[in-house]
Amino acid sequence: MASIFTKIINKEIPCYKVAETENCLAFLDINPNAEGHTLCIPKKEIDNLFDLDTELYSELMVFSKKVAKALKKAVPCERIAMSVIGLEVPHAHVHLIPINEMKDITFRNKKTFSEREFINITDKIKACF
Ligand code: 5GP
Repeated sequence: MASIFTKIINKEIPCYKVAETENCLAFLDINPNAEGHTLCIPKKEIDNLFDLDTELYSELMVFSKKVAKALKKAVPCERIAMSVIGLEVPHAHVHLIPINEMKDITFRNKKTFSEREFINITDKIKACF
């Protein structure tokens, strides 16, 4: 069965898209740790990030770097943290999370945003590319 992220790639379910290339996609996490929490994924459905071939892995990392730079400009924060977990969705992804302190990266303090707020932050990140 297709992963939830493959369904997002195929536009079967919506997302707040931040950036896209031929092989990668970035969109806001629906249950974010912080404003601007973004997921960067390869379009090819592979469960474990470290099973990507080196070329696609490198492409995803370069893509994630560009997204992180835009995110840092768009969201006032100390740093953009990068995290790889993968316990919930079996489709490789990198979390990019604006953080100010250690607790922002714990995945315990979740934030809620309205649709309008999600759209606004998406637009801000896109504008910083
Ligand atoms: P992980 O697999 O790294 O443990 O976590 C998966 C992440 O994907 C979680 O932070 C979760 O909020 C996010 N997520 C799960 N389903 C969806 C979805 O349908 N849309 C979006 N935008 N994010 C999702």
